[in-house]
Amino acid sequence: MAMAKMLLLVAMALVSSCSAWELNIQMPTKRLQAMDETVAPLIHALRPLLGSGGELGSRGGVACDSWVLGVEAHNVRDWKTVPTNCEGYVGHYMLGSHFRRDSKIVIDEALAYVETLKLAGNGKEIWVFDIDETTLSNLPYYAKHGFGTTLFNATSFNAYVLEGSAPVLPETKRLYNKLLKIGVKPLFLTGRTEDQRDITVANLRSQGIYGWKDLLLKQPGFKGSAVAYKSGERQKLQDAGYVIVGNIGDQWSDIIGAPEGARTFKLPDPMYYIG
Ligand SMILES: [Mg+2]
Repeated sequence: MAMAKMLLLVAMALVSSCSAWELNIQMPTKRLQAMDETVAPLIHALRPLLGSGGELGSRGGVACDSWVLGVEAHNVRDWKTVPTNCEGYVGHYMLGSHFRRDSKIVIDEALAYVETLKLAGNGKEIWVFDIDETTLSNLPYYAKHGFGTTLFNATSFNAYVLEGSAPVLPETKRLYNKLLKIGVKPLFLTGRTEDQRDITVANLRSQGIYGWKDLLLKQPGFKGSAVAYKSGERQKLQDAGYVIVGNIGDQWSDIIGAPEGARTFKLPDPMYYIG
């Protein structure tokens, strides 16, 4: 109780220095005074002030949690690098449980959607999967390159790809295997290039991924945007009689541009942006 009252006084002192909007919205004074046993609102009030990714985390740069939210909601676009002061935040997010937890939400929703499907079972129903940061994780590479805070280096990244050692993302594998089981054919549509086909196939197989309908890689000479490339390939699939019942990727450019697929799912990726 004494601790709760002490925290209450600290919170009141902090709140008194906030704007009227914060005072009214987050922690009305009367409610503060009435609060005795309940500490949850107190924690709520303190978190934006003291949280590691919040206001204090923004010293010398942007607030990293707000920046990541902006990225995931596609409000922040066309960025080249993660803000320098967010390397620690993004690193903790990716290496800790947060990324896995957020990914699990996405896949749980995808699986719930799968349960609602009325399948024709004609072999034409497909699910489009992106590869990098969707099926395979390049986190071992990005962990050595500032989690996206340094400019993308195609030479060193392609050297990493050619190792064929990228681990599978376990949540995505859960969806992939479920689709195989019910007769929806997984199909890969990736920004990886045709010359990376063999190593990509080997990498996928080494991670227990089998049975895909096709692996579509970017062909030499293609100059358009990721959206143009991927939507164009999906259009060809649709024209060939395939029904895209689902589409999942880590970039917005994986899932926008008609035809998107009957439903799209966006996995988190605060490390890089592909437009
Ligand atoms: Mg990707």
